[in-house]
Amino acid sequence: MAQPKFIIAVRVNEFKTRDLNPHVPFSPEEIAQVTFECWRQGASVVHFHAREARTGAPSNDTAIYGEIIRLIKERCDIITFPTLGAHKAPSVGDRVAHILALAKDPATKPDCIPVDMLTTNMAVYDSSSKKFEAEESVYTNTIGTLRHICEAVNKVGVKPVSEIWNVASVRCTEAFVDMGLFQQPVYCELPLFEDRIRTHGHPGTIRGMQALLDFFPRSADWQWSAHSHANTFAIAAAAIEAGGHAAIGLGDYHYPELGIPTNGELVTHLASMARWMGREVAGAAEAREMLGMS
Ligand code: ZN
Repeated sequence: MAQPKFIIAVRVNEFKTRDLNPHVPFSPEEIAQVTFECWRQGASVVHFHAREARTGAPSNDTAIYGEIIRLIKERCDIITFPTLGAHKAPSVGDRVAHILALAKDPATKPDCIPVDMLTTNMAVYDSSSKKFEAEESVYTNTIGTLRHICEAVNKVGVKPVSEIWNVASVRCTEAFVDMGLFQQPVYCELPLFEDRIRTHGHPGTIRGMQALLDFFPRSADWQWSAHSHANTFAIAAAAIEAGGHAAIGLGDYHYPELGIPTNGELVTHLASMARWMGREVAGAAEAREMLGMS
């Protein structure tokens, strides 16, 4: 059977500074312009975090999110995938408030949002000092929180995306499908973590990815996309071969081995790789249909 078209998601900024790569976009205009370049190169999904325009500090400002989405929609039909009010926001309400506000206006309505399907340690390991930094840091997502997030966004027509960090996330996703909180086709992301952030989940290797896929329910209609927080090309190649999808971007890694590229250049490389391996790259409208977004 022919492989489905390959969906490229671009993760343009996360919380990254410009110290290691100056091409990380901060302002709504920068994020929209970078997104447009990535869309032209074959990206059909864009994940972004709102940032203060000048300093790049993380922002939870609904107006900034609105401006980003409005400027993106003026330029192209890419699937918009903003972050939630991150793990520092204490309540479910704080996490989804900006999404619910944005969903009221078609010009700013996002297509989907990430739901991290686990509670986990967030400490970072420094192998040179042989110590964990932020030893007490925990990212808490009770099942109640996750259910409330899904219910709130489903109600306004924004698709929850299952973020599968470990095997327990796979099993909870299966339960959430059973409960009607995720609708098939489920769109899920498989983030993988290099050794420094080993507390979060599986290693950024093909085996780390495969260990998640091994527990996917056999008959499920789950469209999955893998990415690493380091060089993601080996993971992406394995995903291309296995019929999955992949994400890439400066939000995860600065790619000195590729000469400090732009987000657009990373998407260009990934799209070429997919074509070399015999997978056609999905356009945004095709990706929307494959992922069950109207
Ligand atoms: Zn993010």
